[in-house]
Amino acid sequence: MPAYPGVRRLLGAVLFLLATLAPARSAPADDPDAVRIGVLAFLGAEAAIGEWSPVQRRVQAALPGRTVSLVQLDHRGLRDAAAAGEIDFLITNPGHYVELEAELGASRILTLDPGPPRTPERSIGSAVIVQAGSGGLRTLADLRGKRLAVVSTEGFGGFQTVWRELAAQGIDPQRDLAELKVVGLPMTNVFEAVARGDVDAGVVRSCLLESREEWRRDFAVLDARKEADFPCASSTRLYPDWPLATLRHTPTALARDVTLALLGMSADRDGMEWAVPADYQAVHEMFRELQIGPYAYLREPTLMVLAERYWPWIATFALLLAAWILYTVRVEHLVHARTAELRAALAAREALEARIRANQEQADHLARLSVLGELAGTLAHELNQPLATIANYAQSLIRRSDNGRLTDDAVREASAEIAGQAERAAGILGRIRGFARKRAAVRERVAPGTLVAEAVALFRGMLANAPDIAVDDALPADASVDVDPLQIQQVLLNLLKNGYDAARGLPPERQRLAVRIGKGAGESAGHAHITVRDYGCGLDAAARERLFEPFFTTKPDGLGLGLSICRTIAEAHRGRLTVDGTGEAPGCEFILSLPLAPSASAPTESRSTHAADR
Ligand code: ADP
Repeated sequence: MPAYPGVRRLLGAVLFLLATLAPARSAPADDPDAVRIGVLAFLGAEAAIGEWSPVQRRVQAALPGRTVSLVQLDHRGLRDAAAAGEIDFLITNPGHYVELEAELGASRILTLDPGPPRTPERSIGSAVIVQAGSGGLRTLADLRGKRLAVVSTEGFGGFQTVWRELAAQGIDPQRDLAELKVVGLPMTNVFEAVARGDVDAGVVRSCLLESREEWRRDFAVLDARKEADFPCASSTRLYPDWPLATLRHTPTALARDVTLALLGMSADRDGMEWAVPADYQAVHEMFRELQIGPYAYLREPTLMVLAERYWPWIATFALLLAAWILYTVRVEHLVHARTAELRAALAAREALEARIRANQEQADHLARLSVLGELAGTLAHELNQPLATIANYAQSLIRRSDNGRLTDDAVREASAEIAGQAERAAGILGRIRGFARKRAAVRERVAPGTLVAEAVALFRGMLANAPDIAVDDALPADASVDVDPLQIQQVLLNLLKNGYDAARGLPPERQRLAVRIGKGAGESAGHAHITVRDYGCGLDAAARERLFEPFFTTKPDGLGLGLSICRTIAEAHRGRLTVDGTGEAPGCEFILSLPLAPSASAPTESRSTHAADR
């Protein structure tokens, strides 16, 4: 076999692999005796197992009843296995450890001790290598616009440590380099890429370079630092060495046994040594500066950053918003002002209407009094008649009593006559009082025939020699109008009196009056028509023009207000007062038209004629 050292080495490696990996593969995940140590494959699986196998042997020796195995995984695999509880310990690079500490509660119990002159705290750095003699590249700042090879962008010593130094120079590897070439594991790929000239520079873990003989012949290190107690060339600050960490589910007793076992390792005997856990603050600072790993949240844009980035939009939006608010406030203000104006105008109008109503009522009242005033003379005469009759009967009773001829029959007859006359006088006075009283307008549903009968009775009661008044009611019995009865009586009384006045001094046959009650037709359909006809002097064209003007009168003692007020009353009842030509016939005809109340729609018409009894 000495003739085939290569084959022997290969065989040895295979046997070794079988010896170390077999338990890991065969131990089922739920084997309670299994102790699994996850390791980050750094130079590929083979190298990882080769590098960490002393750990497995040492722990296995300390825990004879357990099956200890190494599980080599990449970054993601190690994280997933830790999260799934498939490993009890993990050995990984400082950067990855800090991430798992934050995410999964990994807790270091030991840090690899690189041995003098290095210390566990200052053990890892990175070298940025270029081909020896490449004059243009001397410092990290020279890398701008150049091609850089890295094992992976997740590697700690292979990339992140250099990233921090580049960032300090204002270089963003993703943006400012011509190319960030990922060459993958093993790390020796970087040497090859640089040597071949595929890239201008490459990143390797410190001390890896020094493991190659005569490296200075081929490579140079950019910005090599003078670090005390550090024997290798480094382009970056130094960081603590790899930790061995427990996970949340790792039993404390097991952690203690493993710690004690590994602290007992020595470089001479086992090829590696472990020390108490180092301080990983430097790694935290690096991550914070780069805003990655547990500090990735710092990259999320703050309000300030957003404001700086989008200020033109924000300013435009703010301006628009301000304009909109101003506009809204102005419109609101205008609406308020306009509403107040309208309210004031409405209140003023209502006050005016109330005043007009009061004045109208006052005028109505005066008009009624004026009609009474005009009739007062005849009224006194009319009342005089029953009073004289009463006095006659009373004196006749006294006389008979004095003569001793007072019989019971005579007393009864005289008393009955006195009572009848007194009742007649009281009736006249009662109607006049009711007509003259002052009160606010009302609305009552009454039959037009009733209104006419009342007005005619009042008119007759006030005149000593009242003319013949024929009343013809052609409306259905249930026809009615919604009116103020007193106001309509006032209108009718005025019309009757005007008709009576127009025939004064004319022959008796022209002194009659006629009142017709019927339904309007055409434009006036749905209205009741009360027509007052006289056979008096009639109207000439000039008088017909001015008839309804206030203060137009042809009578020496007239006021000229009657017809004007009558028309106002008719219109207040949504009706009309018109005068009609009478053709050949003498006299004239006034028509009061009033809307019929809704229920007055009986199809049949009954007709009744009241002939005047006098
Ligand atoms: P007044 O009776 O106080 O004069 P009116 O307004 O009632 O006031 O009448 C105004 C005028 O209209 C009367 O003076 C009269 O000239 C005329 N008039 C009213 N009714 C008739 C009528 N039936 N026939 C003729 N003229 C009339």
